[in-house]
Amino acid sequence: MLLEEERKHVIEIALQISDMKLVPLTYGNYSLRDPESGLVCVTPSGMPYHTLHPSDIVVVDIDGSVVDGERRPSIETPLHTGIYRRRDDVLGIVHTHSTFCTAWACRDIDGMPCTTSEMAGLVGGKVKIADFCLPGSQELADATAEAIGNDKACLMGNHGAICADVSIDDALKDAIILEEGAKVSFYAFQMGDVNILADQIAKLMQQDTTEHYGQVK
Ligand SMILES: [Zn+2]
Repeated sequence: MLLEEERKHVIEIALQISDMKLVPLTYGNYSLRDPESGLVCVTPSGMPYHTLHPSDIVVVDIDGSVVDGERRPSIETPLHTGIYRRRDDVLGIVHTHSTFCTAWACRDIDGMPCTTSEMAGLVGGKVKIADFCLPGSQELADATAEAIGNDKACLMGNHGAICADVSIDDALKDAIILEEGAKVSFYAFQMGDVNILADQIAKLMQQDTTEHYGQVK
């Protein structure tokens, strides 16, 4: 089977996301790009994650054409391939419908405010929100690729969140950080005035996280 280990890896991530309840039912979609071949392994459309077998993961090329697999790929495959085409640094993408991120994405505001240090470390300022577009549409793929730009995460209007990083494992961590930040912000705003981190400070924190957090590799 083409890219069997990579396909298994996508399933492992999908199961973790389901277990953490970052998506209800079969929503969300996840992919990784194999750096050697440039091919993308993406979750199939509408299948319960706990039933997935490696052969259910679909291998597509950078334009979204199926290279290997019997299943229909996620309807949001253009969302993934659109970001991979624009970003050589991205090897993993996680699109969730996590509750607090989606709630912020339903607000009529210019970005989710940057409140927590983790959120600043991730995005370096407010989290952009792509305009609402129909799920599965090319318009949604284009609007999201535009909104995420060179960032690691953005929200999708009235829909959910997406994280793109150097691996699918890192994209999953980003999705957890983003949801936690969205949750903390929600509670903070219930409590009264909120100290939103200034862009300049948030950028510094992002730089510091990139350069100094974790162990030397
Ligand atoms: Zn979605």
